[in-house]
Amino acid sequence: LLAAKDLDLAFGGTRVLRGLTLSPQQGRTLGIVGPNGSGKSTLLGCLFGALRPDAGEVLLDGEPLRRFSQAEIARRLAVVTQQQGGDIDLTVQEMVLLGRSPFVSPWRAYSARDRALAQEAMEHTGVAQLRHRLLGELSGGERQRALIARALTQQPQLILLDEPTNHLDIHYQHAIMTLISGARHRCIVVCHDLNLAARYCDEIVVLHQGGVIAQGPPDAVLRRALIEEVYRVRVREH
Ligand code: ATP
Ligand code: MG
Repeated sequence: LLAAKDLDLAFGGTRVLRGLTLSPQQGRTLGIVGPNGSGKSTLLGCLFGALRPDAGEVLLDGEPLRRFSQAEIARRLAVVTQQQGGDIDLTVQEMVLLGRSPFVSPWRAYSARDRALAQEAMEHTGVAQLRHRLLGELSGGERQRALIARALTQQPQLILLDEPTNHLDIHYQHAIMTLISGARHRCIVVCHDLNLAARYCDEIVVLHQGGVIAQGPPDAVLRRALIEEVYRVRVREH
């Protein structure tokens, strides 16, 4: 669905993406890993059109992403970014239902089906009982789950998530990874936890200094030597 070719992007004078090329996704779930500051969130921003690269191209279904309108993108892709929702004055239910907005014309109300999709997503993410609470009042993990519910309500072909298991306890880390990797859509997920990434992703991309240093199945990519080099750590033998 999505691919990227030779992306370059600088903030001020600092190059953050350097000739980054992402091959089209093979399996259902693609994990993006890499150190802090390696460009993961910046890449995600380019992949859904929030950031425009200085050079190179993001391709959606083989076509340049810049040719699509925001609404066309929103009918295909759902996004859960790294920091959002803290100060939004909406209830959980209102926020989740917004996932249907790309499909609802401005003069039409949400349908019974839209509401059913929102309800189902809230149940799957464990926020149904919080539906009347304000987003700003929730704990970090509850809010994260509400935002994932909104993305699921969108019924996208592809969900992009930036560290969705941040703030989540172990139960919900596994519940959310199962949910996003198992459903009808594909997903691209930035994940710091290499064990979670290896367990739930069909394919892993390792970012290092603004480029892709490896892409492939978890077993082939998450090798000790590569992890030691990229993260500058020593991995203990078991
Ligand atoms: P993390 O694991 O901490 O989330 P990341 O891999 O997502 O890191 P990015 O957020 O993509 O990293 O940032 C990559 C680099 O670009 C960092 O050095 C960051 O300081 C810089 N950067 C990101 N956004 C901006 C911005 N809007 N203005 C200036 N510099 C930025
Ligand atoms: Mg990030």
